[in-house]
Amino acid sequence: MHERIVDDLAPELGVARWVDASGQPMGSYGLDRMPGAYKLIFCFQHACPGCHLTGFPTLTRLVEAFRGSKLISFAVVQTVFEDFEHNTYEQMLADQRKYALPIPFGHDEGEGRVGASSVLMKRFQSGGTPWFIVIDPSGVVVFNGFRLDAEALIANLKRIEARPPAPEVPAGTLTWRGVLQLTRDGNPAPPRRLDLSDAQWKQRLSPERYRILRQKGTERAHSSSMCTLFESGRYACAGCGTELFDATTKFDSKSGWPSFTQAVTPGVVAYHGDSSHGMKRVETTCNVCDSHLGHVFPDGPAPSGLRYCINALSLEKLS
Ligand SMILES: [Zn+2]
Repeated sequence: MHERIVDDLAPELGVARWVDASGQPMGSYGLDRMPGAYKLIFCFQHACPGCHLTGFPTLTRLVEAFRGSKLISFAVVQTVFEDFEHNTYEQMLADQRKYALPIPFGHDEGEGRVGASSVLMKRFQSGGTPWFIVIDPSGVVVFNGFRLDAEALIANLKRIEARPPAPEVPAGTLTWRGVLQLTRDGNPAPPRRLDLSDAQWKQRLSPERYRILRQKGTERAHSSSMCTLFESGRYACAGCGTELFDATTKFDSKSGWPSFTQAVTPGVVAYHGDSSHGMKRVETTCNVCDSHLGHVFPDGPAPSGLRYCINALSLEKLS
């Protein structure tokens, strides 16, 4: 079984040959050129019976449900991994005409032989055809699989479409997409560095703080009065004193840990993919001294949508 990409930022599709909705060859095309907030990619092969029996009918149902909508856009890719003789570019064109879908079609056979086949399939670690990929507005893959429940997706998206528009995100606000990009591409250089030996940390911190900051520990939920503290002022790293959060971005998440929506400036908090305890999370550390702070989640309030869930013991409240 493949480790399927879900909850990660979508890689670019990597499909070289495209035709537009009317079958005319296009130059490059990909996720950044798809207009919808949500994006759906349907992968098929001409000689795949399931693609015609269930795949295209599901896609047609979805395309019809969102005709004229800016909420979701669609693309079809023939991702060839077998039967190169029948799953050709010409057959892809014929299928586009046959299904009369007003959306771009791509052809992706890699180097055209088994083992050097569809680039898209490798990037998304897909399991064959028919295959559906759904990407949310933050660029995260939210569905990557054989069987897509079209009616459930339509109902969910119609609910989203009926909601009042979300407030604009002010320029410079870090969002979940930015967090995932930093997790994937690396964090910016910190404003300064503090590097101490393990012995020096032991000497400098209380045992409880040492356990959390230097050994990625977690304090008991609701163990600190800092959760319900909302007075103005800054919160600094308990390891090195770097100012990390401001009280104006603190909110009552009811989680039992102090919660914030933004760091004071970019670069003071570092982000790392964390798959410990069987969960896929993003760990936050102080970018100056590498002390563990907590995690950040995409379920915070607007406009950033972020919830920094931080151990109170990792912080020092400044007045
Ligand atoms: Zn620090």
